[in-house]
Formats: sequence, structure tokens, C-alpha cells
Amino acid sequence: MSRIFPFSLRFFLTWISVLALVTACVTTGPGGKKSFLLIGSGEESSIGAEMNRQILSESELLDDSLWQDYINEIGQRIVAVCDRKDIEYHFAVIESEQINAFALPGGYLYFYTGLLRLMDNEAQLASVVSHEVSHVVARHGMKRLQSALIAQIGYEIVLGGSKNSDFVNIASGIGLTLVFSGYSRSAEKEADRFGIYYMRQSGYDPKGAIGMFEHLAAAGERNPNAFEKLVSSHPQTQERIRLAQSQIAEMGELGSDLIVNEKRYKQMLSRLPEPNAGDST
Ligand SMILES: [Zn+2]
Repeated sequence: MSRIFPFSLRFFLTWISVLALVTACVTTGPGGKKSFLLIGSGEESSIGAEMNRQILSESELLDDSLWQDYINEIGQRIVAVCDRKDIEYHFAVIESEQINAFALPGGYLYFYTGLLRLMDNEAQLASVVSHEVSHVVARHGMKRLQSALIAQIGYEIVLGGSKNSDFVNIASGIGLTLVFSGYSRSAEKEADRFGIYYMRQSGYDPKGAIGMFEHLAAAGERNPNAFEKLVSSHPQTQERIRLAQSQIAEMGELGSDLIVNEKRYKQMLSRLPEPNAGDST
């Protein structure tokens, strides 16, 4: 019996693993790109909701429903053409002069007023929104969190997921420590590429991405520290611009009815409160 049991256990775990891999093979990008994930979308949403609660307890949402509706409108336009619709996406503006934006697992995305002030039309902001949506579509945050969880609490517990009552709390705690640690360079390149593709699909002028990169580069030169969190792991700006230009050139004729919305964006900018001195670190 004692000799049979380990074999059976091993067989059982292998069988469960294969089953999990088969059931968690999900689309993570344009063209039907697939990845394997052990943590399903339901659990990812629970982890994201818990992380969102933590972020909102420590950050101040911009108290302007027009701006919150506006970022949601841009976001949902991108979501409508993206390759991941099995979660609900939440877009929020945080009142902070940091030049930053980030996405949590489960589709929680945040944009800082310091970043909004840098852009001068809606297409440029849409390029940041599309980049962040692409991180969620590609599960970049979830892949990083899954690796950290397997390393810290073990494969079987991650595989068991929500059957362990502490799983969401443990995962969201570890996830929060990873939020600002940056993605790999290849993940950033992928989010740039998917983001520009989704811009085009949703009717935005994809050249907004080039304008956005140029603004980020100029801001980085003025104040490298303010820039750290957004760009520390991003590919060099000139390389990003070059890759974006060649991707846009491959799209062929873009047409003249692409969304740029400079006037509307300037009106929205004029609604932003005066920046608080000393709130840029
Ligand atoms: Zn990114």
C-alpha cells in the first residue's frame, strides 16, 4: 500500500496539472495568441478587487465625475476591440502629480493627474490607456504574480486556488508588492505593440502613441525622478518610437476620420485642479 500510494499521488497530481493547463489555456493577445495560466479569471477578479480596495484606501480619486466618466469612456472604447472580455474593466483617475499609470490583475486601471497634464490630445491619453489594457489582456501582471506565488506558497496551493480560504488575501498581498516593480522589457514591448493595434481597431489615431512617447521623454529629461515608476523598465524611448513608427507604417493608409480630439481634451484639462506643490515624488 505504502508503495502504491506515492505513485497514485504523483499520477493524480500530474493528471490535475494537465487538466489545469488544458482548462487555463487562454487568449492573451491579438491573432489568437495563447498562454497557460493556473489562476482562472474568477480568482483573478477577486484578487484584483482586493488589491483595488487597498489602492483606494491609500490613494485619492480625482473628485470629478466628468473626468472619471471620460477615462471610462476612452477605456471602454479600447476594451470593446480588445482580446479579453471575460472580466469587467474599471478605469479611474487618481489625483497625484506623479507621472504614472498602472493596471492591476482583474482589470483595475489607474491614471494619475500628473500624467494627464503631459498629454495634449485624447489620442495620446488613449495610447496610455490602450497600453495598460494590453498588460491586462496579456496577463503580464498575473504571470508575474503566479510565478511569485508558486515560489512563495507552492504549486499545489496555487493550483487549488480559491479552495484555500486565505488564497485571495495572500495573492493580493503579494500582488501589491509587485505592482510598482515593473514588467520585463519584452512585456513592455508587447503592451506597446498590442496597444497601438487596439488604438487603430477602436478608431483612435495610432500616431497618438508617438506623441505620448515624446511627451514622456521630455518629462523624463526635466525630472528623471518623477518618471522613474513609469519608465524604469520600459524600453528606451527612441526604440519605442521607432517600433511604433514601423508598426503604424505597416497599417497602410490610416484615413482621415481617426479620433484625435484635441479640443475636447484641452477642455477636460482645464477642469483639473491646480497641482499641489511638492506632490510630484
Ligand atoms: Zn507598461
